[in-house]
Amino acid sequence: MLIVGGGPAGAALALQLARRGGAVTLVEASRDAGRQFRGEALMPSGLDALAALELWPLPAAIPQRPLHGWRFAVQGQTLFEAQEPLGSRQPCTLIDQPALLQELGARAKACPGMQRLSGRAVVDLLWDPSTAGAPGREPARVTGVVLSDGSKLRADLVVACDGRSSLLRQKAGLALEQERSPIDVLWFELAAPASAELARWLEGRFLTVLGDGGSFALFQSARGAVQLGWALDPGERPPAAGDWRERWAAASPAALALLLRRLPAEACSGPVRLSVQVGLAERWWRPGLLLLGDAAHPMSPLRAQGINMALRDAVVAAEHLAGANNQEAALEAIERARRPEILTIQALQRQEGARGERLRHSRPLRQLLAASARWIGPLLARRWSADQRQLRDGAGTITPTASLPPLPGPR
Ligand SMILES: Cc1cc2nc3c(=O)[nH]c(=O)nc-3n(C[C@H](O)[C@H](O)[C@H](O)COP(=O)(O)OP(=O)(O)OC[C@H]3O[C@@H](n4cnc5c(N)ncnc54)[C@H](O)[C@@H]3O)c2cc1C
Repeated sequence: MLIVGGGPAGAALALQLARRGGAVTLVEASRDAGRQFRGEALMPSGLDALAALELWPLPAAIPQRPLHGWRFAVQGQTLFEAQEPLGSRQPCTLIDQPALLQELGARAKACPGMQRLSGRAVVDLLWDPSTAGAPGREPARVTGVVLSDGSKLRADLVVACDGRSSLLRQKAGLALEQERSPIDVLWFELAAPASAELARWLEGRFLTVLGDGGSFALFQSARGAVQLGWALDPGERPPAAGDWRERWAAASPAALALLLRRLPAEACSGPVRLSVQVGLAERWWRPGLLLLGDAAHPMSPLRAQGINMALRDAVVAAEHLAGANNQEAALEAIERARRPEILTIQALQRQEGARGERLRHSRPLRQLLAASARWIGPLLARRWSADQRQLRDGAGTITPTASLPPLPGPR
């Protein structure tokens, strides 16, 4: 089996299949896992997937930080707070994604059938010419890939885990129903130890700030730096150069504004623009090819779902693929098993996004909420927490619950 892409979906699938004695080749375009930005929030749904991958409790080698809560501030006032774990078995947990990918890679490498080709990009698919699309003939079959150096790798199955802009999805002609994302994100890192005071003030909370000057979210990452994501309308030009600390402070509650203004300029790196893509492939497979993770369903960053869904895809796909004697039936079963959860989660993200957008774009609404925060805040906290249930715990099962090891507490 050939897996293209060593992000969460590809790395987890490779490990599960290699563990079961399969011959697996993973091709990854980058040389290491340390690209500019990789998300790091894992919901209990993703932690369940890690348990199924025998990676829970998380090994100490993976930097990790359980989140303590969520706080929302509008017009410089706290609107409401919700404490983790919000009724789930585990709190949302921040992990260092490159370290997680390295751990998955190291465990897979220890399996005899595993081969990894890093720093090699796939540029095309190979097709069985005898099945090439004549009307009335069976659909064309993928038989391998072409690498950037022109070499060819053949495989009985190619699994495309090559992320949201998936080249393989495009080459296979599998259409993506694209959805308009309400935001793009400008990403900043506020380095430790200069941001230590700010991190102390955050007290492990994920904070969303909505104000006249703009909207952003910030949290202390697993490795200790504070990450800050500034929301832009899709395609909107970032503000002209200026002092970002002042811009953040102008939208913030007074205590936070003070800390942001105190940050030394050299501690703030970025911004990196992350254009958000959201969508769902109309079909996830064709003979010889399967799409998984963002390649099948690019996820919005809202409420941190993409890594979780990618890991869950991998666990389910491995169950169906290991020892399958009818490949097409297995591919069909994987899509049937995973599509409903993705549809539900994307719908919930859409709802949450629409609420956030109303607030981001309506000053009167923000003012009304800020003025009534004392009374309306506790109500909103209860309502919001209830709405989060499936975004946290998942909208289906990935293995029969009885076979999942219980989740012990985090280290
Ligand atoms: C701003 C932002 C913040 C986010 N934050 C979070 C978060 O906190 N929590 C969360 O759960 N999700 C988050 N997400 C979503 C999450 O990052 C993705 O959904 C998740 O990474 C998808 O995993 P994947 O394995 O499918 O794809 P990816 O992680 O994109 O991995 C794809 C891999 O394929 C490789 N590749 C691509 N093309 C080729 C090729 N042609 N040949 C070989 N290799 C190739 C890439 O180098 C990459 O390593 C965020 C997304 C955004 C945009």
